[in-house]
Amino acid sequence: MFTCRNQSCGADWSLADVVIKNEGQGLLFRCPMCGARNYVERHESDDGEVSYEQVVDIKPYGLQ
Ligand SMILES: [Zn+2]
Repeated sequence: MFTCRNQSCGADWSLADVVIKNEGQGLLFRCPMCGARNYVERHESDDGEVSYEQVVDIKPYGLQ
């Protein structure tokens, strides 16, 4: 579960709701509601299972 870091938005999203991509400054997803960039970290377990963890110490930017 991810939470949009745009304080005026704050929408919750599951991994299936968002598109995670790298726009050059790390992995992020854009909030489908407000467009804010929300950073995530990619984790891969020993058996190759990929998961994403939201980075909460970077404020979103590029609000649209
Ligand atoms: Zn949002």
